[in-house]
Amino acid sequence: MKSNKIEVTCLGCGKVLLKYPSKVGKNNFCSLKCRDKYKIKSKYGHLYEIFNENINEVAYLIGLIMGDGNLRKLDQKKTTRISIGFDIKHENLIKIFKKVATRLKINYFVEPKIHNNCQAIGFVLPDKLLKMYGILYSGAKYNNQPKPVDKIVNNINYAAGLINSDGWCGYRLKKYKTIGFINTVSSIGESLVQCLRCNNIECSYYIYDGYIDKRTKKKGKTQYQLRVLKEAEIDKLKSQLKYNIKEFKSEWHL
Ligand SMILES: [Zn+2]
Repeated sequence: MKSNKIEVTCLGCGKVLLKYPSKVGKNNFCSLKCRDKYKIKSKYGHLYEIFNENINEVAYLIGLIMGDGNLRKLDQKKTTRISIGFDIKHENLIKIFKKVATRLKINYFVEPKIHNNCQAIGFVLPDKLLKMYGILYSGAKYNNQPKPVDKIVNNINYAAGLINSDGWCGYRLKKYKTIGFINTVSSIGESLVQCLRCNNIECSYYIYDGYIDKRTKKKGKTQYQLRVLKEAEIDKLKSQLKYNIKEFKSEWHL
């Protein structure tokens, strides 16, 4: 008996399938898995090449993510939702982010404001891409201890992203300018040290034991602190950056 099925190609895997004409649509797949694979590819497939060609922007973005970013899995779709919090006092940092994201062809969206002084911007990236850069995880950084791949950590713009989120540069209670950075995730503290040292920027790194809370008697998290103390080193760092770091002109201006 002759079958009245016709041959169509699965857009996901390229296999030839036999389907009844009434079941043939514009896009045909042999399984839901193939359909999801195709959707991810058409939505995010362009990012691999663009990320590869714009390593300075990727390093800056990943620095921001390691500082003030939050990653969480939304579903089983092999993508991760990333949200970065910005202090609205630093409008310029939002501008830099938008410039970087546009260059990387990331489809971002400004999230509704939750706190008065914080503006979150969100976007979705495929897990496979995050894995390539060593930052595929979900939830608290403290538990995951993420560390991007060396190609990113050794790029000086990674330091700029971190300083522009968890760090600062200025005269904070001092007569001379310093760069400071504080984090409770050791893998992130160490990645910043690696970044600065491999770009010949002198820095000091301190590890402080957590304080004991007098009321709860609980010990706080260990703090990883970094300082760039010499103005000449700060200038050297700035001269290498593609995207500027936030700076405070006066004392006590956080
Ligand atoms: Zn298929």
